[in-house]
Amino acid sequence: LADEQVPTDELLSSPLDACVAGEHIEAFPLPHALYGEGRRNSTGADLTCLVQRRPLDEAIAKTHVPPVPEASTAQIELAMGTLHTGFEAWSARPLAERAAIIRKAGDLLDARLAEFCGLLVKEAHKTLGDCVAEVREAVDFCRYYADQAEQRLAEQTLPGPTGESNTLRLHGRGVFVCISPWNFPLAIFAGQVVAALVTGNTVAAKPAEQTPAVAQRMVELLREAGVPEDALILLHGPGETVGAGLVADARTAGVCFTGSTQVARLINRALAQKDGPIVPLIAETGGLNAMLVDSTALPEQVVDAVVQSAFRSAGQRCSALRLLCVHEGIADGVIEMIKGAMAELSVGDPALLATDVGPVIDDEAFTGISRHVERLRREAKLLGETALSAGSAAVPRLVAPIAFELPRISDLRQEIFGPVLHVVRWSGDVDAVVREINALGYGLTFGIQTRIDSRAARLAHQARIGNVYVNRNMIGAVVGVQPFGGEGLSGTGPKAGGPHYLYRFCAEQTVTINT
Ligand code: GLU
Repeated sequence: LADEQVPTDELLSSPLDACVAGEHIEAFPLPHALYGEGRRNSTGADLTCLVQRRPLDEAIAKTHVPPVPEASTAQIELAMGTLHTGFEAWSARPLAERAAIIRKAGDLLDARLAEFCGLLVKEAHKTLGDCVAEVREAVDFCRYYADQAEQRLAEQTLPGPTGESNTLRLHGRGVFVCISPWNFPLAIFAGQVVAALVTGNTVAAKPAEQTPAVAQRMVELLREAGVPEDALILLHGPGETVGAGLVADARTAGVCFTGSTQVARLINRALAQKDGPIVPLIAETGGLNAMLVDSTALPEQVVDAVVQSAFRSAGQRCSALRLLCVHEGIADGVIEMIKGAMAELSVGDPALLATDVGPVIDDEAFTGISRHVERLRREAKLLGETALSAGSAAVPRLVAPIAFELPRISDLRQEIFGPVLHVVRWSGDVDAVVREINALGYGLTFGIQTRIDSRAARLAHQARIGNVYVNRNMIGAVVGVQPFGGEGLSGTGPKAGGPHYLYRFCAEQTVTINT
């Protein structure tokens, strides 16, 4: 591709940069993602993830989101029985075979990017840039976990005294229940399921009720790649009935959950109350994510990071910025620039390339966010808001990005899963600000903006937070590069897309033989 001339209207880049018509585009190996290669334009701007635009439009136009049937109690019972029996054969398959199947699933998904983008736009109302990034993340999960399984799960011989052999072996635990959210209906769904499968577990998967079709299609693809019918079963329906039924089942050997802190607690409680084996829970939940900006920070960099982190994906990421803590000395200038950047955002139809912020997922989300915004309009100081784009009236559930100033960090008590930014000014002891952020109890993502390197290192160390980003945005963790997951109210700690994740799906066995 090195000398190719690329017309703008044929391409979509993610994140959201566009390239100039006829510009020289150079290919380069991605430093991080396992996914192919990146693209760079003549100014060096990173245009990774360029894809053909027309196949996307065609896929969106012809995408139909099929209805799915809800699983009955009898179907849950049957599925758990099948998966329990299927475990024996699936876990006995050589690791290399399971890894090859998951790798093939990644390749199939890679080839069907447009089709999955169509489904993601139509079912999850994601913007095109977010759809492309999500399909690529799902591909990365398949390839990364297949590689990791082969590297990390192989049987090991351990040193021991003469006359004895010691072997350490990792194997699947049994039937894993995977419960996934609507905000990454493909990437998180696929990540959980392939991690559980490649380690030798069979899987009962319960996707979010809002986004069943994406999951359905991914399961069909996994079958095509070679995952047997009795190793993976999809069960649709509400968490309160289907999810709860799966968690309560005596054959459940592990649960992997991404969603709210409140539901993680319910699952934890239900597991604790069961008789029989102690069942591990892998939970990734929400965050009250802060960005701390000191007086040495670069305002342009801060503004770009804030707008990306708070408003991209309509704020519907666990990692999204909720609370900007900006030093009093530069606060007025930074707020003014954020207002200016917010005015430039385009809020509207997610299928249009120009759209930065699409709709929120459903009416319940829209009502909840709107209520919070209305309360803050009365009780807090409005800093800025984006106007809805002309022609957006036909798009339901649009929430325009909005920013309010709050007097104190502790005034934000609840995660609002939408494009609402809360700003707090600080002065004095920067370490005390980190203590206040820690006191919120969540620990998912944290942004630091400073030009004092030693301060960045110290604050990162003090933060009891899973993902810390310095002098950049704080969303879009890359598989294998920024292992993702939090602590405290944000989850039980395992890092998706990290080198230790697969161990959480395994049981270990040591075999000692007196030779
Ligand atoms: N991994 C995503 C990110 O880094 C967030 C996942 C989530 O929202 O659950 O933005």
